[in-house]
Parts: sequence; C-alpha cells; structure tokens
Amino acid sequence: MKQEVIELDGAIGGGQVLRSALSLSMVTGRAFRIKQIRARRSRPGLLRQHLTAVLAAAEVCGAKTLGAELGSQALSFEPGAIRGGDYQFAIGTAGSCTLVLQTLLPALLRAPEASRVRISGGTHNPLAPPTDFLTRSWLPLLRRMGANIELDLLRHGFVPAGGGEIEARVQPSALVRMDLCERGAAISSQASALTAGLAPVVAERELDRVSKRLSLPADALQQVTLDPARGPGNVLLLEYAFEHVTEVFSAFGQVSLRAEKVADAAINQAADWLHSGAAVAEHLADQLLLPMALAGGGSFTTPRMTEHLHSNIAVIEQFLPISVECREEGPDRLRVEVSAI
Ligand code: ATP
Repeated sequence: MKQEVIELDGAIGGGQVLRSALSLSMVTGRAFRIKQIRARRSRPGLLRQHLTAVLAAAEVCGAKTLGAELGSQALSFEPGAIRGGDYQFAIGTAGSCTLVLQTLLPALLRAPEASRVRISGGTHNPLAPPTDFLTRSWLPLLRRMGANIELDLLRHGFVPAGGGEIEARVQPSALVRMDLCERGAAISSQASALTAGLAPVVAERELDRVSKRLSLPADALQQVTLDPARGPGNVLLLEYAFEHVTEVFSAFGQVSLRAEKVADAAINQAADWLHSGAAVAEHLADQLLLPMALAGGGSFTTPRMTEHLHSNIAVIEQFLPISVECREEGPDRLRVEVSAI
C-alpha cells in the first residue's frame, strides 16, 4: 500500500528541518513535500549547503526530486532504495561539510554495503558543528549506540574561502538505545586555538584569556598554526571530557572582533553547560535526537528547550512512531525521553 506523502512547513525552523526530513525519508522510504524552506532566515530557501544535502541524499537513495534548485523554498522528495559505495560531494562554497554528512549517515548505516564519502566545503563554520565536534563529541556517542563510522579531516576549510574536505567511512550497523542523563566524573579539559593565515598573536591572546578565566594549566593549551593557504581562519575549541560524555565548544574569529571576545564566547557556552548539571549542551542535544529516534528510544538531559530541539522533535514525530517527552527537572535541566509508541 502506498503511504501518504508527508507535508512539512519549513518555517518552523532552519536548514535542520530539511536535513532531518531528508534523513528520515531515506530510512523510512516515505516521500515528503516541504514548503517555506528556511522562510524566516535572512536568505530564505536552499543555499548551497542545503542543496548539496538534497542532491547527495537523492544520489544515495535514487530519489526523485522537484524543486532542488538554489533559492528554492519548496521541495518534493520521493526516495528509492539506499545504496552504499563511494561518494564524493562538493558544496562549492564554504557551506558546512559536517551538516551534509550528518544528513547522509542514518541512511548509510542502513545501506546493504559499506560506504566512503568525501565532502568538500567548510569544515569549521560558525553556526554548524566543527569537524572536531563530530570526531570528539558526537561520533563517540554514536559509536556507543552501535554505529561503525570513522571520520577524517583531510583539509581545514573556513568561511569565506572554503576548500576544506572530510572523509567518512561507514559500515552498515544498527543503532541501539542510549541513556545519557548524567555526565559522570570530570576527566580533563583542554583548549586549542587554530589559525590559518593570521598572526600567531591571535591564538596566543585567545589561549591567554582561556588560561586566566578557566585556570587551565599550560599543557592543556594548544596553539595550532595551519597552512596559510587554508586561511584566513581562526577557531577556538574548548573540550571537556567527562566519564560519559565529551563536549566541544567553539567560537570563531572575525574581522574587528577582539581575540578576547572570541575566547569569551566559547568560555561562556562552556560555563552555561557546566553550571547546568545537564549531561549534554544545546548542540549535542538536537543532534542526538534523530539517532535516538532511529534506535527506537533513548534519553538525555540538556539545559533547556531550543528552537532546533523543538523543530527536530516535530519533524521526527511526523516520520516515525516515536514520542518525545520533555520534562523540566530544575531551572537548567530538561530531561528528554525518546520512546517508541
Ligand atoms: P539556517 O539556520 O540558516 O537554516 P543551517 O542550515 O546551517 O542554517 P540549522 O538549522 O541552524 O542549519 O542547524 C545547524 C546545526 O548545527 C544544528 O544541529 C546545531 O545544533 C548545530 N550547531 C550550530 N553551532 C554549533 C556548534 N558551535 N557546535 C556544534 N554544533 C553546532
């Protein structure tokens, strides 16, 4: 029996609404139509990163699409069978490679054969997961859920130049439930300041600020100078390893933004999470939801509801017989429970 086409309103969120719908459509085999894609963003519709995600998803599952064009605010996606294998996708701008990869991974985990995917574009973008966030924080949790995925950063790519590249290798594997409500004991914390084509003093000032505000010892501070050809670019990464979870917070250098302000932006995100007592911070929360839903259940605690978490729940509940319950357990602790209906 042919199932109904799922109708989505993209105005409930940003690009993630579209990417989650693509992932879910590929794995469930259910077609969807989305209107008002990124309608409330300053440049609405499909940007290069979103279009690459659509085209890549279509290639992986032989989908029929309508509206897969730059700037399009409406898309129809009718998936076919998932195929693993060797894939290569170029975003063509500094759009985020990691967001395109995350769109494909749920399907590649269910492919009949192994895959290798290379994606070129931005690897370290503001408002997207830096590759280090995937390798250090998100992927270790997915592996705990059973996913067999390896990721390499082949070349850094910053906004605006892009030119970065990542490679993922995926072995088909089933996801199992994970419960992540406590962080466990603190193990270590460290900071890395990366610069490409910028004066080393930028990284020195960022690390100086981190060392003063977080009292990190010198051996926990790392300055990384990349090939200037990869620049200009600067990112500060703060990593906190706990017994059950590792979090990575990031902030990006910008023209006329003081290095100390960049450091403060990452430190403030980390401090908010540390003070909350919740297991995962804002970004990990919305990125764990889909794998947990595909596993058929799971739970985590996070400081609060966000737009991304809210819109992602709405998309998931339209595709899967899953319910997501959110219960406040304190001023900065929201418990999210994903269960099969
Ligand atoms: P737009 O909002 O313009 O449509 P978009 O397509 O880039 O943008 P969003 O819908 O905003 O995508 O989704 C961005 C994703 O990146 C979310 O999953 C969010 O949690 C994640 N993200 C953003 N910043 C970070 C960060 N610093 N670390 C980890 N993940 C991040």
